[in-house]
Amino acid sequence: MSIIIKSEREIAIMRQAGRIVATVLDILSRQVRPGMKTRELDVIAAREVERLGAKPSFKGYRGFPANLCVSVNDEIVHGIPGERVLRQGDIVSLDFGASFMGFQGDAAVTVGVGEIGSQARELMETTEGALKAGIAAAHPGARLGDISAAIQNYAESRGYSVVREYTGHGIGREMHEEPQIPNFGLPGTGPVLKKGMTLALEPMVNVGDWRTRVGDNHWVVLTADGSLSAHYEHTIVITDGEPEVLTTMEGVYA
Ligand code: MG
Repeated sequence: MSIIIKSEREIAIMRQAGRIVATVLDILSRQVRPGMKTRELDVIAAREVERLGAKPSFKGYRGFPANLCVSVNDEIVHGIPGERVLRQGDIVSLDFGASFMGFQGDAAVTVGVGEIGSQARELMETTEGALKAGIAAAHPGARLGDISAAIQNYAESRGYSVVREYTGHGIGREMHEEPQIPNFGLPGTGPVLKKGMTLALEPMVNVGDWRTRVGDNHWVVLTADGSLSAHYEHTIVITDGEPEVLTTMEGVYA
């Protein structure tokens, strides 16, 4: 398998898919509050993606039972929304994918529940910063390892660790296309980035150690040491100049 270059027409559709994902995540982020069950977020995601004319990509993917991944505190990714009640001070990672006219968008954001502590806030800022650093490295002619190294260096230089067993990925007609994009690696290694490549970058950053474990439901991934974890993701396209973020409401990354 090789990395698929998208046409302008395909990128235009992915821009719409990305905007739908961003809109759903924006709505969800504003709804997060203490006392809410995580299942309520799944209900909102299902309703909003339908209203926007798209399909929830994760539902049924390899058997995933929900529309949205909701991962709380030491949960890193793949949390199944359910009866868990969000509490003041929790952090909740929302990961959502939508399919529109045969193309995928995929993004994630971590949100504080009410007032959160400084450790959680700094973790979230660092993880979002690591994503921005990865995006900034995504230039034509650069190599995939430049993205990985930028993410890793940003997080580790601030004293955090990056999750190693789960990665970003190419995206297009399929949710997961070539290449895998680790959040750690060496600059100057890996495939050369070319205009028209569409990639989902998604650093998962832990306060403690990078090691993970899978929870009892066989889906949720947690930090092995119980430390807090955050997750930010955008779908981007490599252009002649600055990369374009597709999973925004504006089409530009602010
Ligand atoms: Mg993804």
